[in-house]
Amino acid sequence: MTTSTAVTTRPATRAPKRAAKQVRSLFALTLVGGLVAAAAMPAFAGVLQKDEAMTLQQMAVDDAQSVVVASDAVGAELTRESYSATTSDEIAKKKAAEAAAERARLSAQTATTTSYNIDLNMVAPGSGAVRWPLTSYTLTDTYGTRGGAHRGIDLVAPAGTPIYAAAAGVVKVSSEAYYDYGVAITIDHVINGQVVNTLYAHQSYGCRKVVAGQTVQVGQVIGCVGSTGRSTANHLHFEVYMNGGNVDPLAWLNANAG
Ligand SMILES: [Zn+2]
Repeated sequence: MTTSTAVTTRPATRAPKRAAKQVRSLFALTLVGGLVAAAAMPAFAGVLQKDEAMTLQQMAVDDAQSVVVASDAVGAELTRESYSATTSDEIAKKKAAEAAAERARLSAQTATTTSYNIDLNMVAPGSGAVRWPLTSYTLTDTYGTRGGAHRGIDLVAPAGTPIYAAAAGVVKVSSEAYYDYGVAITIDHVINGQVVNTLYAHQSYGCRKVVAGQTVQVGQVIGCVGSTGRSTANHLHFEVYMNGGNVDPLAWLNANAG
C-alpha cells in the first residue's frame, strides 16, 4: 500500500466518495494488521494528498489483498487448534463452525467502538486563551514535511487520550468520517480579532464530545486520540488555518499557548 507520501490538504478539495472507500479499506487493513501485518505497517501513513492518493483501482486491489490475507490468517489460526472430533466429516463441521465464529468475531470488531472513560470536567492546563490540544505527546512530524504538503503536526499519544479545544469557539465540523481525516473536529475561533480554524484529526470512533454548532471553551475536552482515516498509528493530526491558509501549528502554539 502507499504510505510515505502522506500529506494533508484542506478537505474542501476532496471528493467525498473516496473517503468512504478509504475508510473501508482501512478497516480491512486494521483487521489484517492486527493479525499478521502489524510489523510491516509503517509508523504513519498520515493523510494522502489528492494528487498523490492511490487510485480507486489500486484501493480495490488493496481491499482484495486484505481479504485474501485475512482469510489466510483465519486458516492459519484454525490449523493451530486441536480438534476433539475424529471423523473427517466432524472435523470439517467443526472447522466450518469455528470459521463462522471467527468471521462473526471480526465483523463484531469493526462494528464495536472502544469506549473511553473520559472526564468531561477535565480542562487543559494553563490560563491562556490558547492551550495545547494534548497535554502529553510525542511530536513525530512537523509542519511542511512531505514535500511541503504536511499541513499540520503529528502528536503521538495512546488511543483514548483526551483532546482539548485549543481555544474557545464554535464547532464547525464534528464527524465520524471526515474524508482522510477520519473522525475529526474543526473549531472556528476569533483570537485577537482574527478568525482562526483548528482541526483535530484521526480521533477514535465514538469518542467525540461535541457537535457542529456547539460553543466550546478553551481547554474543553472535545474527543480522544485514535487512528481513524488515513492513519496507521494513534496520534492527533492538528492544523491551524488562518488568513486563507495553513500556518505552522507548532509555532502558533509556542507563540500563543499558555
Ligand atoms: Zn499529520
